[in-house]
Amino acid sequence: MTMRLIDGRALSQQLCTHVHQEVATLPSTPCLAVIYVGDDPATQVYVGRKRDMAMALGMESRVMHFPAIVTFQELYETISSLNQDAKVRGILLQMPLPPHLDRFALLEAIAPHKDVDGLTSQNLGLLAAGHPRFVPCTPQGCLRIIDHVGYDVIGKTVLMIGRSNIVGLPLSLLLGQRGATVTVAHSQTVHLDQLTAQADMIISAVGKPDLVKTIKPGAFIIDVGISRVEEDGLCRLAGDVALSVQATAGYLTPVPGGVGPMTVACLMYNTLQACKATL
Ligand code: NAD
Repeated sequence: MTMRLIDGRALSQQLCTHVHQEVATLPSTPCLAVIYVGDDPATQVYVGRKRDMAMALGMESRVMHFPAIVTFQELYETISSLNQDAKVRGILLQMPLPPHLDRFALLEAIAPHKDVDGLTSQNLGLLAAGHPRFVPCTPQGCLRIIDHVGYDVIGKTVLMIGRSNIVGLPLSLLLGQRGATVTVAHSQTVHLDQLTAQADMIISAVGKPDLVKTIKPGAFIIDVGISRVEEDGLCRLAGDVALSVQATAGYLTPVPGGVGPMTVACLMYNTLQACKATL
């Protein structure tokens, strides 16, 4: 079987076109608010992409930037006022946050019906119970990729590497609900290579280049990780999956151009859903 590389940019464009058409039919323009803290250049790029895409699809975008010394109270009050603002349909608190801020408490402050990243305990609970309000953006992007190629996960062994609330935890639950047999690997897992060698599908969300080196021939590999690596004085983006895996994978998502664009498109989709739910 020859490896098939999945074009996340093209697929995300299809979803964005659908969202754009739907937004045009809404009685009012939905607004997505994105809050971010600090001056990390990568975070600024991600926030900029979300703002630009929202505007390109006919939505409003409100980006709220705070210095790294911002207090919990200030952010909490900002989120509370966005909760009250009827124009704002989606609120995203961009990670990471500086360590002095209580991430859980701030995410909990977001009104669940505006929590378009699906990270509040209410929304994660609904997802765990099999009735998601919003499927978190990156897990949703991965599911859309799987559906796009028509891959049936029922009865398949899936290795989910990473267990964060934003990627690994919801995605492992969603795939289990679809009938896959899911193993979750994490920082304390030993002999990861033995697990990667056996799985029908590997989804890696860690941020460690070359973490996945050994795979079962024909396996479906979804690379969520993003790292910046220096090579010959140049900086490039890398996923978690070694380039050598390309020779034997069945399907593979590239970095960049795989899951990343899907995450942004799914955020737009969730914001549209948030808007339609309150019409
Ligand atoms: P996180 O730091 O919250 O979680 C990382 C996970 O990796 C943890 O569960 C940890 O246990 C696990 N881990 C760490 N070292 C490991 C090891 N040696 N072996 C196995 N597991 C290990 O990060 P996150 O927010 O879940 O993001 C993970 C990666 O995915 C990052 O590189 C991030 O940039 C990327 N990401 C990409 C997108 C996208 O749209 N492409 C979206 C979100 C996150």
